[in-house]
Amino acid sequence: MGERVCDGVAERLGVEVRRGVSASLLTTYRGGGCAERVYLPCGAERAAEFAAECAARGERLFVMGGGSKTVMADGSISLPVLSTANMRRVEVAGFDEGRVLVRAESGARVADVLAVCAEAGCGGLEFMAGVRASVGGMVRMNAGAFGEQTADHVYETEILNPVSGEIVKKRGSETDFGYRRGERGFVLAVTFAFPVMSAEERERRRLGYIAARRARQPALPSCGSVFRNAGEAFAGELIERAGMKGMRLGGAEISRLHGNFIVNTGGASAADLFGLAELAAERVRELFGVSLEKEFEILKDGLPFRANL
Ligand SMILES: Cc1cc2nc3c(=O)[nH]c(=O)nc-3n(C[C@H](O)[C@H](O)[C@H](O)COP(=O)(O)OP(=O)(O)OC[C@H]3O[C@@H](n4cnc5c(N)ncnc54)[C@H](O)[C@@H]3O)c2cc1C
Repeated sequence: MGERVCDGVAERLGVEVRRGVSASLLTTYRGGGCAERVYLPCGAERAAEFAAECAARGERLFVMGGGSKTVMADGSISLPVLSTANMRRVEVAGFDEGRVLVRAESGARVADVLAVCAEAGCGGLEFMAGVRASVGGMVRMNAGAFGEQTADHVYETEILNPVSGEIVKKRGSETDFGYRRGERGFVLAVTFAFPVMSAEERERRRLGYIAARRARQPALPSCGSVFRNAGEAFAGELIERAGMKGMRLGGAEISRLHGNFIVNTGGASAADLFGLAELAAERVRELFGVSLEKEFEILKDGLPFRANL
């Protein structure tokens, strides 16, 4: 493992580097390989400096949030990873038209934001309660559930311009949010505009959504939904109708509870998940003529991987 340009930048800026970090620590699926280098800048400003300088020197980085939508390829991955795990500051930033503005650095988890909302008397992200997602990943994917989506609450994002190194502020309405489609740049922080909400209402929503998830989604490690829903057709239903629930490959299994989840039953590799996903997509195409498109992101070296920066 020779020195990389990012190592020098990290040393100069005081950014922590961890070497040989396994998928079981970085992702919720837990199967897969090992990242040779993970950089953990403290705070949004330091992350911006680090990422801009790496970009200026021609280094590409993969930004990792909660790892709940990312599967790491098997083996050793040399593409440098910028983890937002040390960028978790959340604070009330003001008020606008009766809504409470809450600014969260991009590595803040749903639970971090909900804790500040509880103190501030507002709410909104309960639909993702219990999921290990970061707000950066949620804005990137426009995470949604139970008829609600992240975009509903995004007031402003702070995005890195990797060329100038500047932090650009964008109103929520300036991002072209769609179904699982959000901001494409490196999100450093997000300001949400949340409605005022009583503690009873917030808890009712939070506990209700957690209970609904427990009933419908498997508890074993996964990367969430494997496929995007294809228009009116729910991917999980098509996989169920194709009789594929419970199908296994190595340590991976198409969940018996929800056809659109592939779970790691223990010791599953990334190849197990990719193989099962391919089988499910093939079977659904043969039986129903529907092409399923993957929803998860893959962290791996080389093409066709699309690096963030
Ligand atoms: C049990 C379970 C349940 C889930 N339920 C739902 C659900 O109900 N609805 C739903 O929509 N999703 C769901 N997911 C998927 C996942 O939680 C969301 O897609 C979430 O938005 C991913 O956030 P993350 O921080 O974990 O992203 P990661 O997996 O870390 O990253 C996902 C993508 O976002 C990029 N990214 C991460 N941080 C940033 C950043 N700061 N700036 C720019 N890009 C960034 C990554 O590079 C990658 O391309 C579920 C996942 C699990 C495991």
